[in-house]
Amino acid sequence: MSATPLLMIPGPIEISDRVAAAAAGRPPSHVSPAFIQAFGDTLRAMRHVWRAGPDHQPFVVAGSGTLAMEAAVTNLMEPGDHALLVNTGYFSDRMAEMLARRGVEVTQVRAEPGEAPSAAAVSEALIASAKPFKALFATHVDTSTGVRIDAEGICGVARAHELLTVFDGVCATGGERFEMSAWGADVYLTASQKALGAPPGLAAWVASPRALAARDALTTPPPLSLDFHSWLPIFRAYEEGRPSYFATPPTSQVLALHAALDEILARGATPEAAMDAQFEQHALAARAMQAAWATLGLRQLPNPDLAANTLSALRYPDGVNASFLARVRDHGAIIAGGLHPALKDAYFRVGHMGITAFRPDDLLATVRAIAHGLRDAGHACDPDAAIAAANGHLTR
Ligand code: PMP
Repeated sequence: MSATPLLMIPGPIEISDRVAAAAAGRPPSHVSPAFIQAFGDTLRAMRHVWRAGPDHQPFVVAGSGTLAMEAAVTNLMEPGDHALLVNTGYFSDRMAEMLARRGVEVTQVRAEPGEAPSAAAVSEALIASAKPFKALFATHVDTSTGVRIDAEGICGVARAHELLTVFDGVCATGGERFEMSAWGADVYLTASQKALGAPPGLAAWVASPRALAARDALTTPPPLSLDFHSWLPIFRAYEEGRPSYFATPPTSQVLALHAALDEILARGATPEAAMDAQFEQHALAARAMQAAWATLGLRQLPNPDLAANTLSALRYPDGVNASFLARVRDHGAIIAGGLHPALKDAYFRVGHMGITAFRPDDLLATVRAIAHGLRDAGHACDPDAAIAAANGHLTR
């Protein structure tokens, strides 16, 4: 049994020593020159990680992913507007609730848990309903089912109909390819504690010029603390190296995010190469883990063609239930139970994003812990074969 089990849930995740150290110092003033420099660098780094152009505006605000969702909903939409929501599970339901509370008329395109509406299905829904949609909302990776949507295809369909697009990337940003400018997305939002590799505490998103213009055009403003207009002068000042204040930023968390993004962008000779390496490594880690799951006789919850690179959602084999999670912890890895309301007792989830995707030892230790946990729970399987299957991908 490991003294400090690996944190392999779909966020928060393991962070590097450097990121942990960045958050652990005495908190700086939000207007100190060193902090202003670090915050400005963080915003600039976000454009690279998001693959967003210089005309796109990054935002970093104290809060979690839920707050970023609320900021997108309340800055782009107002009562009476129509939204098309691509619903793939638990967090899409949350987005629907937020939209409804803002007085937005929501039309949903759904799929069975573990499936995702295709771009063609979204196109058909747009045409069939003939409502005056203003925006499309979708979850890039649904953390409750492990499904990844075709974000590029869906974004293209929405753009062809001149809709704004909002993608919840909380379980994806930095781990799954997303080309914000090239695809024409308008808000791509996340939180610090997932694939970006920082501690929880920050909501982060990038808004396109169209998204900023949509806020300008609102007749019913969003809550002051979420308003793009409250924050825009602040982030512009940070990027220009000037002190400014609207509401105190969590300075220690920002320093941690700064270190985390710096680590990501140091993985290539250019920011573009670093992000390619980042996306490819997450895909490789996912393939390795999926090979292990197959060897252990585990079935994925998502349609394997749609399985995300950042996490795995796996059905319990016969005779195994959620009590097995504690056994896995005893073998050295913390993993998560199910989340989708319709079948949460039928499956479990394993995160493999951020630095662990770059650490074969962590991935293999997780496979080992799960395999031994399964054996303890009475499921016949071969841990060594599963480790070998994963390792085959990681050493290729
Ligand atoms: N959206 C998705 C896809 C998520 O995975 C999560 C968190 N698991 C959220 C939104 C909400 O983020 P938070 O818990 O940071 O508020």
